[in-house]
Amino acid sequence: MKPAFSGADQPSGALIDACVHCGFCLPSCPTYVLWQEEMDSPRGRVYLMKAGLDARAEMTPTFVSHFDKCLGCMACVTACPSGVQYGPLIEKTRAQIERHYERPLGERLFRSILFALLPYPARLRIAMAPLVIFGPLLRALAGVLPRRIRSLIAVAPQPTLASLTTRAPEHTPAVGASRMKVAVLTGCVQRLAFAGVNQATINVLAAEGCTVEAPAAQGCCGALALHAGNIDQARALARHNIEVFERANVDRIAVNAAGCGSSMKEYGELFHDDPAWADRARAFTAKVRDISEVLTEVGEPRAKRHPIKARVVYHDACHLAHAQGVRSQPRALLAAIPGIELLSPAESEICCGSAGIYNLVQPEPAAQLGERKARNIAALEPDMIATGNPGCTLQIAAAGRRLGYSWKIVHPIELIDRSIKGTRERGD
Ligand code: SF4
Ligand code: SF4
Repeated sequence: MKPAFSGADQPSGALIDACVHCGFCLPSCPTYVLWQEEMDSPRGRVYLMKAGLDARAEMTPTFVSHFDKCLGCMACVTACPSGVQYGPLIEKTRAQIERHYERPLGERLFRSILFALLPYPARLRIAMAPLVIFGPLLRALAGVLPRRIRSLIAVAPQPTLASLTTRAPEHTPAVGASRMKVAVLTGCVQRLAFAGVNQATINVLAAEGCTVEAPAAQGCCGALALHAGNIDQARALARHNIEVFERANVDRIAVNAAGCGSSMKEYGELFHDDPAWADRARAFTAKVRDISEVLTEVGEPRAKRHPIKARVVYHDACHLAHAQGVRSQPRALLAAIPGIELLSPAESEICCGSAGIYNLVQPEPAAQLGERKARNIAALEPDMIATGNPGCTLQIAAAGRRLGYSWKIVHPIELIDRSIKGTRERGD
């Protein structure tokens, strides 16, 4: 028998052994909630990892499918009373799969295209350009296109010429005396489809007394690659950004995309056995914060908040709430805006189905989870939805459209920016 795992980057036996098989994580796991299958639960997957590590399992299509179906949402980490670190376990398991398992040709091609495009903003800009004009037409024709293309179009952002060509200013001075020097990660999809989120991040940081740097040389943080098992690509992308942000010489690195923030907080672990990079990665990680953490840390707000009268559902992005433990800060910042009625949907701990490239490679369960989330949100009849991750924004928008809702979905930082500027919301 050829053991499932071999060579570098195997999941840690010590981390696996922390699981006591209690099953407390099962009700929080979206795939267990959908299918009630033990091997599609966190406990079942940890059991399979152990079998792979002990050479009791081979890298068969069935073995791989249970890991492919995992969203990597980390709801199990929040639920686990034994502190099982599922994040590094699933990342190393996926690294093993990508190294030792040969996927069917169509799947290999699709994944290769995704990973040749998504982490490279210059290529992604070219790929997204036709959507400026043909996006609505492609959406209208999506029903007759192949399944993979259909799922891609369903969640693709609708860029504008401005969003594709706008670049964040490299240097923005603080309003008043500077309290902190902060660099901003501008991201890949974020900078091309949600350039307004980056500008709002810079505006609010500056208004709150931060000197802001947005280095033009920065690239992708490697989150999508890391979470999908392309660990060597993730390391190459991480090394580049470590070098770029070292040169910026800042106190904090602010991130406004939950998936990016969670992977950047893992750089220490990613390079822990690389003597040339371990210290630099740890120093980098020590500076990384979600934007809501930076605004909490910087101290008493300086900029006056003007009222925004709206019922706002706050959607917890899994890589913010479960992976980074950031739940209270964005809520507190939104609640500080006069007029906002903040709402939390039922099952807020359950993933919306976005999960990096999950909604592209596992479109059916992703769509089911998206619609489940959309129904829970719709029950609250919100004026708008706020969430701190571009993937969640696209996924919830797509699921909402299928159910007949055309919600306004914003990043919390956009609401704070509008509140500081006194911009009116909800057309009132
Ligand atoms: S990461 Fe999410 S989908 Fe995967 S096992 Fe944990 S709870 Fe389930
Ligand atoms: S809650 Fe933690 S210890 Fe219990 S089965 Fe799940 S992963 Fe294992």
